[in-house]
Amino acid sequence: MNERPILVTGGAGFIGSNFVHHMISQGKSVITLDALTYAGSRENLHDVSDNPLHEFVEGSISDQALVRNLLVTREPWAIVNFAAESHVDRSIEGPAAFVDSNIVGVFVLLETFQKFIATRGQAEFRFLHVSTDEVYGSADEEAFHESTAYAPNSPYAASKAAADHLTRAWHKTYGLPTIITNCSNNYGPYQFPEKLIPLLITKALEEQPLPVYGDGKQRRDWLHVSDHCRGLQMALESGRPGETYNIGFGQDVENLHVVHRLCAILDRLRPRTSGAAYAELVKHVDDRPGHDRRYAINTEKICRELGWQPEISFDAGLETTVA
Ligand code: NAD
Repeated sequence: MNERPILVTGGAGFIGSNFVHHMISQGKSVITLDALTYAGSRENLHDVSDNPLHEFVEGSISDQALVRNLLVTREPWAIVNFAAESHVDRSIEGPAAFVDSNIVGVFVLLETFQKFIATRGQAEFRFLHVSTDEVYGSADEEAFHESTAYAPNSPYAASKAAADHLTRAWHKTYGLPTIITNCSNNYGPYQFPEKLIPLLITKALEEQPLPVYGDGKQRRDWLHVSDHCRGLQMALESGRPGETYNIGFGQDVENLHVVHRLCAILDRLRPRTSGAAYAELVKHVDDRPGHDRRYAINTEKICRELGWQPEISFDAGLETTVA
């Protein structure tokens, strides 16, 4: 679509680094801006570090002078924003960082980008804000669709919801060509091991208890990160400005099911020396406050409008992730 680069913010984190790899593998030029918090790592981008299509810049999306300088000197045609504090448990312990990065940071990106493109024919530009299905709160019978009312329950979800609203407003008020995607739980390579799937794998291999919140019957829709990245590219290149697209596998499963599937794979790939099953390590722990019971996502819009479909089944994706 465009010879100019894409500015990927938060590109040294889990989904961002997968997206950077995905775009570079197609010959696209990418600038990564990342503050390298505890969750970001240059290691995640190790194999593109010498690639002429990639440039890494360390810094925060809240640093307006830095963002402006990158826009003026690199002239990207799009910003794809992954930069965020992303762990719900941490948002309960310390919400301030979530307000700084997820709300103020997004405000800085929107305002700086809008001023930058105002004199450059804004129709060619895109601002893709990567968000979560957690903004919708807990699902009852019906899966989340794009017009489901927002009802965030954790400080993390509230900060993402605020950023979504800012993004929407910058489109409605200033005509910024924005696209928002709300995706379900991701898993796959480069995920920080505080998140459920890598946490369980790591703990299991260390023969430590496998913590499961409450009764473990919370339901989540798990999407392999590479399916998410394909959906993001489609939304970026073919999505309609001002629109929101939900992305997910389209099927939700209980957390306990995830834990038992993981244990079964590990039993096969790396049996315990004691001969016992990994499932014996499962330990129920107190549930956390603000913990949504169910996330379920309706992906009909992105399937219909952009021709996207998930390609990796949960069983196949989990197997390669564990391996
Ligand atoms: P992550 O925590 O693995 O990565 C976040 C990255 O952002 C890190 O590299 C971090 O250093 C960087 N960062 C944080 N604050 C920054 C700042 N102020 N300036 C620049 N960089 C900063 O997160 P992730 O799981 O890859 O999620 C990426 C995005 O996708 C987030 O916005 C998240 O809300 C959203 N999302 C995640 C999931 C999921 O299941 N992980 C699902 C849907 C949406």
